[in-house]
Amino acid sequence: MCKRLSDATLCPSCAGTIREAGYGFLFKHRCPVCGNPVLDTSYACPFCSEGKLSYGPYGKTLASLIRRYKFGGERSLTPLLAGLYLPLLASIDSPLLLPIPCSREGYKRRGFDQMIVITSYLARKEGYLYLPLFAKRKGKQYKLLSKEQRFHGQTLQLTNSKRARKQFQQLIAAGYTAVLIDDVSTTGSTFHQAKELLKLHFNCETAIVVLTNA
Ligand SMILES: [Zn+2]
Ligand SMILES: [Zn+2]
Repeated sequence: MCKRLSDATLCPSCAGTIREAGYGFLFKHRCPVCGNPVLDTSYACPFCSEGKLSYGPYGKTLASLIRRYKFGGERSLTPLLAGLYLPLLASIDSPLLLPIPCSREGYKRRGFDQMIVITSYLARKEGYLYLPLFAKRKGKQYKLLSKEQRFHGQTLQLTNSKRARKQFQQLIAAGYTAVLIDDVSTTGSTFHQAKELLKLHFNCETAIVVLTNA
């Protein structure tokens, strides 16, 4: 980020910059119920009201990290980015990570799905459970799709894998919390689709974890 030589992925000064870009640093108050950072305790906490957690506001630091990872293909940033989810996941009971798949264009461009890479890293290094339960397919019902979705011509669907669906059902029954995980939340329509699918097929509630909201 600063172009200075460093043995670590980030020099101490840049590591500090990232810490200071998070709500954990920016917000001095904590929600009395869940303990997550809130601007003011008189506002509804996004986690308690909508089950939504994000690392920090959309700003230069987070945006440039995500850009480098997604568009610059700097896969060495995986541990760093995965680490930003840890304080968020810590406040969820037995989280079961469900990565939101990237667009076909994105996959073609960089050759990897960043959220699959991040969640499998979290599974390997931190012991979290994850399940690739969603797939993006070419949408057919164009009339029902939003402008953004029509642009990509894609819609979110549950995986065809009966094994994955069954596994999901068993884990939810065992008390795991379904957690939709993505890097940037834009319009929220993908999350909406995902939530609806889970409600419809499994009658389960979901939490949402992102780095930032653009
Ligand atoms: Zn630096
Ligand atoms: Zn709360």
